[in-house]
Amino acid sequence: MTEPVNIIIFKGPKCATCKPVERHLKRIVETSQGGATMMTIDTSENPAISTKYGVRNVPHVLYNDEVVLTAQQAASMFSSFTVETTEPAGMFSPDQYDLFNYLFNKLIEAGVKASEADRDRWRKLSIITVSERLLNIEELEMVTRPTVGDYVHIGHLQSIVTSLLAINPIAKGYLFRSGELAGKFGAAQSWIHRYNPKIMGTLRMKERFKEILKGLKILYGPNQLASNVASDITFEQFSDYHAKLHVYGSAHAVMNTDIGQDVCGFLAGEVAGLMEVTLGEKAAVVETRCCGLGHDHCEFEIRLGEETDHYSPRKIETKEFFSETDRLRFELSLANISRHMFDSILYRRIMRPGTGDYIHISVLQHILTSLKFSDPFNSTLLAYAGQHYGQMLEDVGSISRIMQRRNLGYSFPMEFTQACEVLEYYLNSLIQSKIHADVTIEVIDDESAKFKIWESAATSGIDLSTVDLSALFPGVEKPPKVTALDDFLSGFINGRLDLLVEDDVSVREINCQASGHPYCEFLAELD
Ligand SMILES: [Zn+2]
Repeated sequence: MTEPVNIIIFKGPKCATCKPVERHLKRIVETSQGGATMMTIDTSENPAISTKYGVRNVPHVLYNDEVVLTAQQAASMFSSFTVETTEPAGMFSPDQYDLFNYLFNKLIEAGVKASEADRDRWRKLSIITVSERLLNIEELEMVTRPTVGDYVHIGHLQSIVTSLLAINPIAKGYLFRSGELAGKFGAAQSWIHRYNPKIMGTLRMKERFKEILKGLKILYGPNQLASNVASDITFEQFSDYHAKLHVYGSAHAVMNTDIGQDVCGFLAGEVAGLMEVTLGEKAAVVETRCCGLGHDHCEFEIRLGEETDHYSPRKIETKEFFSETDRLRFELSLANISRHMFDSILYRRIMRPGTGDYIHISVLQHILTSLKFSDPFNSTLLAYAGQHYGQMLEDVGSISRIMQRRNLGYSFPMEFTQACEVLEYYLNSLIQSKIHADVTIEVIDDESAKFKIWESAATSGIDLSTVDLSALFPGVEKPPKVTALDDFLSGFINGRLDLLVEDDVSVREINCQASGHPYCEFLAELD
């Protein structure tokens, strides 16, 4: 049986570090898909409970009775933080990253410990369920987005993957793990068999291995469905169970600047998952070259019968969080991604000759849903990644141009309603990237508005309205519901609003196309 997740934060009236801790926790709980709950206890009002839990100083955070943050730890994270910072409210400052990452990783650790078995069941079954509701091959040939069509610019995928890696080093491990689950239980399995039926035509392991390699070449390379994961694939085989896959023009990484990180962890995981489920044996799959490491193409080493250690969260966890230099490299890379996307759309500077710069939306959807359903907390990670990308100053130029063109003489920071008006024009200007079709914003009052996004690339064509997960959680009063899917976009809107109003805004998805609504709807509120 699944126990409800319980986060308790003890705080006090005069505690300066309590506020950001509480804000991050609230956000993590709101976006997590795991039915997490949070309780706030003011120690000055409830001395008895505080004593019972042994709380001497605040903030103090418990997760299912395990201490995940003490006042001392919070204070040490804020010690480098100076009061005269010029960072406007709502922006990520280095200590904000550290605090978010610290809480996020601690919660995941504690969560995994609390119910490893439940989590595995949740991962496996939700991915099977979601995969069944995703587009199948026949449906792939029909257009599900009447206005913008079913292709989305690769810059969108890259901004998601790179933002994830930029805010949390462990994201690499999560990308691999969700790829692995997608390979084992997702649609890639039926596609690869369809592309190369010979995989099942032989019982001999080494021949199957070879046939899978051939299947991967079609699955990721040019194929009849033009999913366009990569522009070309070649493979080299060194022995019966050892090969290298060369991936040219990976949608995840092509033209990335050197960020010192291999970014195609999802693909590595998917290959590992496909190998394991088809051959009945684990395969170590490691990306040894990547555009994210400054190479001209990506390369994956595959060794059957070995385990992949490269992406183990424990291994990544032992590293220090990113240094200032790493953060700058990521900023530069994200700025480049948005510039490449802009150049590709506006000036037709093609990033991937041959295949072109668009992938089928099902590619993006598999990645997002696998990520989301491989761990309930990954929704939070996606939302934070979107917020981080939304807060980047790179695009301020295009926002100024929009204001000029529309004769909007607003100055920074803007009123909330002014920011909504500007964002409506801005989001509609993204239509050529095909991230979504029209966006309309309904202002409710001075501090809240509804964003309506039509034909979102992340959710169009997915039908989760009939998914009932209660069977997976017998005896649980409120089983998690499959609702919001567009965490990155909701984070992105959040980040852009933070940037324009220079204040804390909260954004959550209240209606999703994937659960049967005609469009995705986000509620934005000034905190
Ligand atoms: Zn790569």
